Amino acid sequence: MPYAWPKDTDFALLELDVLDRTCPACGRLMYICDHRYRRVHTLEGPVELVCKLNHCPDPTCPGHAKTKSPELEITIALPKWAVGWDVFCWIGHRRYSRHRPIPQIQSDLWDDYGIKLSADSIARYIGYYQVMLAACQQDSESLRRHYEAVDEIILSIDGLQPEKGHETLYVVRELTQKRVWFAEPLISATADEVRRLIAQAKAWAESLGKPVALWLSDRQDAFVTGIAAEFPDVPHRYCNNHFLRDLAKPVLEADSHAKVRMRKKVRGLRKIEQAVLKQQGAQASEQLVDNHPAATTAVIETPTNPPASRGDSASAVVLDYCTAVRGILNDDQGGPLHPPGLRMADALDEVRASIQRDLDAKKGDSQSSNSADSPAASTAAGTRCATNRSRSATTSRTSRKSPRPSNRES
Ligand SMILES: [Zn+2]
Repeated sequence: MPYAWPKDTDFALLELDVLDRTCPACGRLMYICDHRYRRVHTLEGPVELVCKLNHCPDPTCPGHAKTKSPELEITIALPKWAVGWDVFCWIGHRRYSRHRPIPQIQSDLWDDYGIKLSADSIARYIGYYQVMLAACQQDSESLRRHYEAVDEIILSIDGLQPEKGHETLYVVRELTQKRVWFAEPLISATADEVRRLIAQAKAWAESLGKPVALWLSDRQDAFVTGIAAEFPDVPHRYCNNHFLRDLAKPVLEADSHAKVRMRKKVRGLRKIEQAVLKQQGAQASEQLVDNHPAATTAVIETPTNPPASRGDSASAVVLDYCTAVRGILNDDQGGPLHPPGLRMADALDEVRASIQRDLDAKKGDSQSSNSADSPAASTAAGTRCATNRSRSATTSRTSRKSPRPSNRES
């Protein structure tokens, strides 16, 4: 497909000669008979190649009808490409090492190098890149070099189904070098089909002359029988990942059940908050230094009886607790290795201990305020104390990556 170059493109000119000018048929010196002009993008800018084509001057020689192109031409770009190898490799690298989508590759090419390519051509280059990469990965000579220093190999097989109903891609990987050996889509993974792949892996291992120390898989039936048949003396282990995943199901089920029970027990936060807010509103509007023992008791659900002068900061502490507990109850983070229910139970225990410390401090506090006759001083001390404790409970939970409760003091 011809590439449309803008009229004002500034090309660097590159002339290419045939290096070996002996006619391959008769051995005479060949002449230049024609020129081929090509334009390609390189990362250094647009290049115009002037390729001098040679042929044998003897009209009776078979070398006369065939032209020879400069040897270096294909080291710059393959025939019909609008980009050089450097751009081609850049595209492939962006796609497969950085996992960039085509539209982003397209805009990066334009922004960074002023190279304008259609999405279709980029997709086509990516296709070529894949083919070359696969060919390179399966090249037996390079594979042998790669495995020269390896004593034994460990193989794994697994099927990946991109979508339900689609064919499954079976992948054989070698784990010591973390290398995909080969992959094949199978519509129906019968035991025979799977065994064929395992036999292929065996042939590869034999051609490398390396013993197979271990097979890993999810141990589905076709794998178990196929590996046992092709590799009778090689151990076949459950892959860690599948093992954990299978174990995770019952663990997470039990954990979720425990969470439901905890949430059932710890409830009524909204009610408490409304009661506190209502109390604060009443205090603000009436400007009364009045005690509301009944309301306060309902709020904390424990027999506390603060003097009215500290009612405001005490209710703020209660609101902080409510926020913290709500954060704990809504925390669903964590997988089977850190079950959310266990974390919830730990965090609720911490809150309970924190409230208990507040209550203990309160008891001591009210006793001392009764004996010593200075309510203002003890109130200030008691409030700071309670606030610090509520913060310490908050901080220790935050360090466990629970959602951070809103902190009144900050
Ligand atoms: Zn000739």
